[in-house]
Amino acid sequence: MIDKVLIANRGEIALRILRACRELGIKTVAVHSTADRNLKHVLLADETVCIGPPSSKDSYLNMPALIAAAEVTDSVAIHPGYGFLSENADFAERVEKSGFIFVGPKAETIRIMGDKVSAIRAMKAAGVPCVPGSGDPLGDDPDENRRIAHKIGYPVIIKASGGGGGRGMRVVHSDAALPTSISVTKAEALAAFSNDQVYMEKFLERPRHVEFQVLADTYGNVVVLGERDCSLQRRHQKIVEEAPAPGITPAMRTDMADSITKALKAIGYRGAGTLEFLFEDGNFYFIEMNTRIQVEHPVTELVTGIDLVKMQLRIAAGEPLPFTQADIKITGHAIECRINAEDPKTFMPSPGPVKLWHAPGGPGIRVDSHLYSGYAVPPHYDSLIAKIIAHGEDRDTAIARMCNALSEMVVEGIKTNAPLHQEIFGHAAFRQGGVDIHYLERRLGLK
Ligand code: ADP
Repeated sequence: MIDKVLIANRGEIALRILRACRELGIKTVAVHSTADRNLKHVLLADETVCIGPPSSKDSYLNMPALIAAAEVTDSVAIHPGYGFLSENADFAERVEKSGFIFVGPKAETIRIMGDKVSAIRAMKAAGVPCVPGSGDPLGDDPDENRRIAHKIGYPVIIKASGGGGGRGMRVVHSDAALPTSISVTKAEALAAFSNDQVYMEKFLERPRHVEFQVLADTYGNVVVLGERDCSLQRRHQKIVEEAPAPGITPAMRTDMADSITKALKAIGYRGAGTLEFLFEDGNFYFIEMNTRIQVEHPVTELVTGIDLVKMQLRIAAGEPLPFTQADIKITGHAIECRINAEDPKTFMPSPGPVKLWHAPGGPGIRVDSHLYSGYAVPPHYDSLIAKIIAHGEDRDTAIARMCNALSEMVVEGIKTNAPLHQEIFGHAAFRQGGVDIHYLERRLGLK
């Protein structure tokens, strides 16, 4: 096993990684900005290194500082968590060139999947169903672009190849709006992602977001651990996730697992990953792949009984997967609520000192959170402060347990979006299951 892991992240996921390391007997190095000295995992880690001032650019995104921290602590591997440098191919490359293990796929795989046009091309070539689209980046000829739009059929969506975080997308309904939409999206993409390449897809009007969790080892073994439904979103950001996805049959799951396995073997994938699809009228359409652990990974852990973070570390250590596709069983239902430090009505961030934190508990409740009474949520980073995950023998039981948990949880001193979750769990449409990606914004009156 790996002797020591440097955790290149913060907050709840850094604590999650620290816990997995401890279970495996791996020593931990917590790196932190000057604003994060009191983070829970920093207080618990075997060693700590301050890597810079509060701004992410100077700390959690500071590659030389991270590599230097790994060197001075004699770390063996670096776990990037999610966000920050987790999908940065240059970072993965620098980590490996400096002699450390990057807990994730090879840099070249991250590079292919980080560019949406090349990711779609790779998946299409391997037989994975994709959204009807241009396939290639759009050129500058307006007649040709119009021809592509007609072939796909309006409405279409112009998307940045290098896009992420729900940015760099524009829906187009007519020929008249097409040239301007393309040039505006290109300009935005250049400013935000330093890459002005854009492509065109059919805009699906009422899809659900359904994604598949995978694990692959370094010996070519690939296992698909079922799917998650993450359709409850605001501004393309997930708020509630569940596994399994309502209405997905075992036959559909097996079909998708077959085609995903084939595709990932073809690209030589390694580690944990997620393939995201839009699901409409019984069909799946690939949109992108995340080559890292995801925020919503616990729902899959609860229904499969497999610890994904420990598996990431074991794969990085060169172990083969200890199970095959036939061993994967989905048991019961799990739902996750992302608790953010924000105003539940205006969504304005609400950082500050937590006067009191009382975590919910009881049967089937898991809480992944770095909060403690007296901890001050800094204003510099993402507002996620806790994930409440409920598991039960069926969806209704998981929902009932989540409602109990939300009503028991106490956070004093800062505002959270818990009231929004309580409201959502009262909606008849949500309780029935299978709402589309625009449902929440329609209900909030934002659409
Ligand atoms: P990002 O990398 O920014 O998250 P994605 O390609 O994963 O971008 O898309 C994010 C979200 O945008 C999806 O979950 C969905 O809500 C919406 N979206 C993307 N492509 C389409 C499409 N072709 N039709 C309808 N909605 C889409």
